[in-house]
Amino acid sequence: MKSWIELDEERLRGNFGLFQSVVRSAAGQDAAVLAVVKADAYGHGLEECARVLADAGAEWLGVTGVEEGRRVRRVLRDAGLGMDAQPRVLVMCGISEEDAQAMVTEALTPVVWSVEQVAWLSAAVTEGKPLRVCVEIDSGMSRQGVRAGTKLLEVVAAIAGAEGLRFDGVMTHFASAEVAGSSQTASQRHAFEGALEAIRAAGVTPAWLSVGNTSGVDMEDAAEPMVAWISRLAQTLGARPLVRAGLAMYGYVLPVEGLGAHSCLAGPLQPVMTWKAKLIGLEDIADGAAVGYNGTFVAERPMRLALIAVGYADGLRRELSSTNRKPGGWVMVHGQRAPIVGRISMNLTTVDVTGIDEARMGDEVIVLGEGITAEDHARLAGTIAYEILCGVRAEGRG
Ligand SMILES: *Cc1c(COP(=O)(O)O)cnc(C)c1O
Repeated sequence: MKSWIELDEERLRGNFGLFQSVVRSAAGQDAAVLAVVKADAYGHGLEECARVLADAGAEWLGVTGVEEGRRVRRVLRDAGLGMDAQPRVLVMCGISEEDAQAMVTEALTPVVWSVEQVAWLSAAVTEGKPLRVCVEIDSGMSRQGVRAGTKLLEVVAAIAGAEGLRFDGVMTHFASAEVAGSSQTASQRHAFEGALEAIRAAGVTPAWLSVGNTSGVDMEDAAEPMVAWISRLAQTLGARPLVRAGLAMYGYVLPVEGLGAHSCLAGPLQPVMTWKAKLIGLEDIADGAAVGYNGTFVAERPMRLALIAVGYADGLRRELSSTNRKPGGWVMVHGQRAPIVGRISMNLTTVDVTGIDEARMGDEVIVLGEGITAEDHARLAGTIAYEILCGVRAEGRG
């Protein structure tokens, strides 16, 4: 293989445990963490991560759609887990009519917010266990969910009136969780509380209240931190708090914005993914030699360049390219930084190994991992660690 990823399962397990203990110390032992494995577990591999997280004790996993839900069920079945021993699986990113049957047969929990979705699901349940559904409140992000008001009451009534469905949870999602003291978050909390009040007045009691993502869980600014807030609301309803988290599972947090607040998770979480590539060429070049497309870098001294078998088609962002004036990214060769030289090509990248005398053909080079993180890539590429991790398209797994 020319480039591959390696997962540290112990770190994945450790990150889950750490996050869960932070949540439980604020919300009590009945709080649960929903480990998000959507988008192929943020590029880490859905099957492997689902298996490890289930084994680590996750009561809930979160996926994008039914296809990922099926894959989770399959890998857990293959691991010998009966349905009763498997985590609940929340399908978070909407459903279509064709998905309804699979929700039932695979025992997935759909997130719904319209009467139409409720009708599809209700038609798919024939006999046996009722299908538990989770209602999403749009508390102000205007992405998915239903706003508090008449529409919400219609959805609640539709679920209550459908014999095969059970109202199981209420959730919402915050748009600015990583911003300390955000007024948008405050207004979203207020809207969510209003929706809960309306649901309660309609005579429905959810078993779960779910909010959150990695950010904001332990932010040390709020008068009432998010986890304490959701646990208080859950208590008044006799529901269990459920905090959703993806990025933290894989060892990253977003930097907190503003007010000197910080996340105590940033230190102890450990990145799970290491992305490696093979060193497939070594070349000494002379002073004045141009390197790569358009010769954006010209050697100003004799250099030793290594060629590595990875490029932007594999997910190594082209923004990590360098010129003489603007340094770019780097890879790790024998524990030392080897700066990227010139433009990153589709499947090839040249790096400077002058002075790294141990470098040999066939060596393993770290493209992302110890010494160069997804945050480093994100900063250089002008994006977030999420997009970097999801964008890794290594040839295989080691
Ligand atoms: C992806 C997602 C999350 C997880 O967010 P992180 O920031 O990765 O922790 C939580 N909730 C919903 C609805 C999501 O789509």
